[in-house]
Amino acid sequence: MTGTDKPDAPGDPGAPGGPGELLEPWQWPDSTWRPIVEHVRAGRSLKPDAWPNGARCAVALSFDSDHETSTLRDGETSPGPLSQGQYGSRVAVPRIRALLQRHGIPASFFVPAVVALLYPDEQRGLAADGHEVALHGWIHERNSQLSEADERALLQKFFGTVNARPYLTVKNSAKIIIIRKAKLHNGR
Ligand SMILES: [Zn+2]
Repeated sequence: MTGTDKPDAPGDPGAPGGPGELLEPWQWPDSTWRPIVEHVRAGRSLKPDAWPNGARCAVALSFDSDHETSTLRDGETSPGPLSQGQYGSRVAVPRIRALLQRHGIPASFFVPAVVALLYPDEQRGLAADGHEVALHGWIHERNSQLSEADERALLQKFFGTVNARPYLTVKNSAKIIIIRKAKLHNGR
């Protein structure tokens, strides 16, 4: 759990201004910012007419178990930043797990495949507690910067990794999220 997910860099700042001309976001014409936003629209609302048992709202708790991967993703290999990532597995996840257990609250933990390979016992423990362990990329790469071919290759890679390791319990909803994201590239 390394805390913050840095926002992705904006999409193609140079495109509308002509060859080689870089524009700042405040200079972008409509034809630049609109497609960037439309590309990531959430789609139709899935909110039900009423929540079960008369509840006024629903709350989903999810955690990113990024650990060392935010550091590795940027090509950083020095001990300082990597040790910050290890804090997530040594201290943060156990504390969160204990808190959730104490209150009987199920949650989702989004886990890069590299984290699952580094800390299989952590994932086993979370699954045993009834939490959802959901895939969160390969090494916390920035999906918006991947080509479709690279993203598909990574999907195949981590599905192959998970299928070869039964201890990595990944529930269907996580796979659905990932597959639906991949389909976005096909305009479906
Ligand atoms: Zn993350």
